[in-house]
Amino acid sequence: MDKLTVFGNPIAHSLSPQIHQLFAQQTGRQISYTRHLTTSPQFSAAVASFFRGGGVGANVTLPFKESAYYLATHLTRRAFEAKAVNTLVPLGHGQLLGDNTDGHGLVHDLQRYVPRLQGLEVLLLGAGGAAHGVVAPLLAAGVAKITVVNRTLTRAQQLRDYFSDERIHVSSYESLMQPQGNYCIINATSASLAGIQLPIPEAIYAGAQLAYDMMYGAQPTVFMRQAKTAGSAQVVDGLGMLVEQAALAFQLWFGESRVLTEPVIAQLRANL
Ligand code: NAP
Repeated sequence: MDKLTVFGNPIAHSLSPQIHQLFAQQTGRQISYTRHLTTSPQFSAAVASFFRGGGVGANVTLPFKESAYYLATHLTRRAFEAKAVNTLVPLGHGQLLGDNTDGHGLVHDLQRYVPRLQGLEVLLLGAGGAAHGVVAPLLAAGVAKITVVNRTLTRAQQLRDYFSDERIHVSSYESLMQPQGNYCIINATSASLAGIQLPIPEAIYAGAQLAYDMMYGAQPTVFMRQAKTAGSAQVVDGLGMLVEQAALAFQLWFGESRVLTEPVIAQLRANL
């Protein structure tokens, strides 16, 4: 039985155990995937103890993705660029590889709705950890422009400066302009968690090929309701992103490229 876990705080509602059990069933593996509630001072000792005890892989969620970045002894390029780690792989002798599969998860899920990302403009709402983690994979997928829109403009500017790619622009909500070409809106803020509406003009929602909220739940979020009412062509939540990032983590731990994500998304959706 392979031991896996996810570290976070809070962690009780994490869907990761369910997702990985479904992947394990698909691939005929026996796994035990637990949730591990920890605190900042205990995080590194908890990780070390888990892997000393034979853990074969771990996920890391809020608020420990940055701590995991500093804890990992080796980083993938994705994790280095995101400056955050959501997947840990033991390399032996106490060494840990840190990866970040969130951006890959987003890009894979986006391609279900917008198969051609090349040439697309992205309005990326938010400049926190989630936004930071998806910038490099979006650029690598060939998007023409990313406009980072954030309540605190200096954070958006810091994000742009970190990547220093001419395709990244910043804007406040107040000065947000209507994009000229094809575009989608990605909500990487935590405003939906608090049920708060973002000040996006209706016309900008109306012209979007896709309005995508990284958050997910049983009911559409405030952002999704606003986008739908204003007429965005497609309105989607982040459940697919969650399952796609998990699929890549499963592949890293077990070398499995065979997992099917569609049936897992459908099953989770039915149980939300
Ligand atoms: P974070 O680091 O705390 O950043 C939060 C962002 O939201 C900041 O840019 C913040 O702006 C903005 N924000 C918060 N309240 C706002 C408001 N009332 N109006 C406008 N902007 C507001 O959080 P995070 O880690 O990036 O996570 C963001 C969201 O992504 C969460 O809902 C999380 O669940 C989701 N997520 C989903 C997945 C998935 O797999 N589906 C993966 C990762 C994250 P300021 O800078 O001005 O404070």
